[in-house]
Amino acid sequence: MDNKSATLYIVATPIGNLSDISERALQTLRDCDIVACEDTRVTGTLLKRFGISKEMFVYEDSRERNAAPILLEKLKSGLNIALVSDAGTPCISDPGFRIARACRAEGIKVVPIPGPCAFAAALSASGLPSDSFLFVGFLPAKTAARRNFFEKHADFGHTLIFYESPYRILKFIDDALDVFGGDRVVCVAKEITKLHERFFTGKLSDVALQIKNSSTKGEFVVLIAPKDFGF
Ligand code: SAM
Repeated sequence: MDNKSATLYIVATPIGNLSDISERALQTLRDCDIVACEDTRVTGTLLKRFGISKEMFVYEDSRERNAAPILLEKLKSGLNIALVSDAGTPCISDPGFRIARACRAEGIKVVPIPGPCAFAAALSASGLPSDSFLFVGFLPAKTAARRNFFEKHADFGHTLIFYESPYRILKFIDDALDVFGGDRVVCVAKEITKLHERFFTGKLSDVALQIKNSSTKGEFVVLIAPKDFGF
């Protein structure tokens, strides 16, 4: 890489299956000066798996406000930086926005190295309308805020996509059932690209039962079809 013109690379990494890493992602991780990551243990394991040894810089949610100016200085000094998150695409419900924005403001090149992203993978295999959708990411943890969002979007004409944690998935489903009703078509995608990958698709009342009868360990993407969509 040309050190005179520093670049911030936004590098997508696997969401489970390590074979999903792209050749370009690996090349970028090999060639950069520093890998900025959320957790050095997670990224260290990934780098080790591919025989890459690289300086790491912690860039995670709680430190993003302070870490962005430091990273910006490193870029200004000519260092090429590859930003990764624990899994998937940085900036998508993950840190990165502040440094990308700062680089754009300073005229520093920002280059995406696209790859895995949980919501895109879930949507692509869901069978739900995929030409237009609203990716919401994580809703607030509080029931009232979640229900309020659902009520406001009950008649939304596009697929809704959410991330949800294993600790809140059952509450999420119960609230969705109350607001959207049992006939609404949904897809719950669990552990995508991993050993126990499952797609629960159909009427919300049926999917709710299946989720309740299966383990809620793992990672989830929830998709809710527009009101009049029949499956
Ligand atoms: N930046 C990531 C991306 O590109 O998808 C998302 C990071 S966000 C902090 C983590 C959430 O993404 C999880 O709580 C889950 O909702 C979703 N997720 C990540 N990996 C997943 C997988 N393999 N299967 C299902 N959902 C996943």
